[in-house]
Amino acid sequence: CQSSLGAQEVSPRKDEWPVHGLSETVVGVLGGGQLGRMLCQAASQMAIKVITLDPLEHCPASAIAHNHVVGSFSDNVAIEEFAKRCGILTVEIEHVDADTLEKLEQRGVDCEPKASTIRIIQDKYSQKVHFSRHGIPLPEFMQIDDLESANRAGELFGYPLMIKSKRLAYDGRGNAVAKSPEVLSSAVTALGGYERGLYVEKWAPFIKELAVIVARGRDGSILCYPVVETIHKDNICHIVKAPADVPWKVRKLATEVAREAVSSLEGAGVFAVELFLTEDGQILLNEVAPRPHNSGHHTIESCYTSQFEQHLRAVVGLPLGDPSMKTPAAIMYNMLGEDEGERGFQLAHQLIRRALSIPGAAVHWYDKPEMRKQRKMGHITIIGPSMGIVEARLNAMLTEESLESQ
Ligand code: ATP
Ligand code: MG
Ligand code: MG
Repeated sequence: CQSSLGAQEVSPRKDEWPVHGLSETVVGVLGGGQLGRMLCQAASQMAIKVITLDPLEHCPASAIAHNHVVGSFSDNVAIEEFAKRCGILTVEIEHVDADTLEKLEQRGVDCEPKASTIRIIQDKYSQKVHFSRHGIPLPEFMQIDDLESANRAGELFGYPLMIKSKRLAYDGRGNAVAKSPEVLSSAVTALGGYERGLYVEKWAPFIKELAVIVARGRDGSILCYPVVETIHKDNICHIVKAPADVPWKVRKLATEVAREAVSSLEGAGVFAVELFLTEDGQILLNEVAPRPHNSGHHTIESCYTSQFEQHLRAVVGLPLGDPSMKTPAAIMYNMLGEDEGERGFQLAHQLIRRALSIPGAAVHWYDKPEMRKQRKMGHITIIGPSMGIVEARLNAMLTEESLESQ
């Protein structure tokens, strides 16, 4: 109704709205990228209030979050102010200020997963040290501080040698491969030099990359999603196939390793465990993410409880949902920026248009303000009655082939 204030009438601040959702707790998410956006989408379904903190005003999560706060998740003041507005703090990115999370925890703020987990994981070298201490199988690794130690690592592990930055790595940015001792120096320079903090890993001769999303509730209960295969292009996740086409024994071993790895970390939430499968059937851990993950996007359409809903259930203390698949097969295709600017948007929209006529396809567009080459702009999940059919649908979508033959 029209009051005398007319258009100026103001509603109460969103934070102060009464809550009658499934949880009375306001969940604060550090980061507002696509993972934050999809967490907000799952939250709105259950009327759980999620607020996000991200330096960008128009980040993917901002349009959907109950409230969005502009500020850096690496800035102690911004995080402390943000924490005052939340009952629980969680993350959609691990590159946050772990010192501040630890301080907040000491003051009684509920962080899920725990600050100790974020601290271990955000430094990939300390992550490797942690998992090797817990007996998790992984490629041999070694810190390098200068050319001498890098050469020593090369002699020990052989070539190609994988060089990685300890911190702030994502989408392979932070990795460099040295094919021979002669190119060690240039590979190190490409990563920003030894000062950046580097370590090396022995090359893992994998035949497939696998991933398992593991959920842990506040009561310590653990549930694992089906093992998926992840296919990377230029170090970036490109396609995910669920379930992975691997023998039952491999699925069992991968699930065991993933469960074991997550059991060694503290706190509630979903965790993604990236794994290598070698020719002789060994499973090696690559890395763990303490949050929903690209390898679990398919769960929105293909599982009874998506990884995003599961993360929220876990952190607020609701019972965990069923992680099993409700469809025989799913493929997730990442829409990576093919070109900068307008041309990139045009190409992406052409693909979306084709996807809309593919049976079982669901389009997710992250609404990022800027298009950049290789940037994750959206994804498409195709579900169907068999992996063969889902693969044919993906090919049809990518090549504009007729679907009449299916
Ligand atoms: P993400 O976006 O998954 O966080 P990241 O930047 O942390 O990526 P990694 O997961 O360490 O990078 O590596 C990216 C990819 O590089 C892996 O998925 C795998 O394809 C390849 N890779 C990583 N480590 C090794 C290794 N030791 N041997 C062979 N290939 C590897
Ligand atoms: Mg990583
Ligand atoms: Mg990775």
